[in-house]
Amino acid sequence: MAQASKNSRTGSATQKFICSCGGEVKMKTLFENGKVKNVAECEKCKRLERRPSDFK
Ligand SMILES: [Zn+2]
Repeated sequence: MAQASKNSRTGSATQKFICSCGGEVKMKTLFENGKVKNVAECEKCKRLERRPSDFK
């Protein structure tokens, strides 16, 4: 009986997103009207999107 154990997890939670300008997209936490808002911002062109995947 071969026990197939796949403990090698390569999928990390931190995924890298690159803006169309070539800059790196970083997650940012903003406070707006007393609410915490998570936005994605490009380090290079300062473009803001709601989700990092919107930079594609
Ligand atoms: Zn950019």
